[in-house]
Amino acid sequence: MENNGYFYKLSFLIIGVFIFLTAFVFLTAKFFSLQTYRIILYAAALLLLFAAMLLLAGFIWINRLLSPNGKDNRITVKNPLLAKLSFRFFMPLLLAAGNLLNWNKDEIRRVYINTCNEYIKTRKIEVPPDKMLVILPHCLQNSKCTVRFVDGIDRCAGCNSCGIGALKDLLNKYGINSRIATGGTAARKIINDEKPGFIIAVACERDLSSGMMDVQSLPVYGILNQRPNGPCRDTFVDINELEKAIVLFSLEKS
Ligand code: SF4
Repeated sequence: MENNGYFYKLSFLIIGVFIFLTAFVFLTAKFFSLQTYRIILYAAALLLLFAAMLLLAGFIWINRLLSPNGKDNRITVKNPLLAKLSFRFFMPLLLAAGNLLNWNKDEIRRVYINTCNEYIKTRKIEVPPDKMLVILPHCLQNSKCTVRFVDGIDRCAGCNSCGIGALKDLLNKYGINSRIATGGTAARKIINDEKPGFIIAVACERDLSSGMMDVQSLPVYGILNQRPNGPCRDTFVDINELEKAIVLFSLEKS
């Protein structure tokens, strides 16, 4: 968690704002003379307090999930109610606040992706290879390559000018289907058409976090791509990380 300073700061800021608002409304209610307004303000204060408690619970759950102890003690973090609370309430609010304040958005997105990944691991999902789908971003393909990918990456000639050739070999070894997505809309269409049981998605922080938030009904494991040439151009993915994820979630291990 040593690289997640912005996540902590933003979490404390949001929770602090809610607690401050709660205290403010309580104090305002105390000094109002009209009884009705007082009741309304007390009710608002209770609601705010409730929201602050939910946020705090979400934060504590995510913190436990991402901490080394949480990883060793998955039973305590495998709580569907807290997971829902964190994924549907706390993290979306945190991501929206990060976007609004234009703070280090990618760090918040990485925390969200890591949280989803760690939670998926606690569910001990194992699917047959034909139910697993790997969605890859088009920018993994060498920008000078003329091969057009329609269904998967089988047309790759394996010239080794980019990482697609090695990806093709890896996915063929495990019998896993793949699709190239040109963006979030294309990825959603692929998921609707293919109806996989489990998805491993490779993308940047922005596309992965928004995609994982959209597809909450399906288990999605996210892997960030590496972008030494800048965004959306000649990117890479750590093939060992991808293979580890395939082995972890596949019923057939080799
Ligand atoms: S490895 Fe495949 S996708 Fe990459 S440049 Fe060569 S033919 Fe194109």
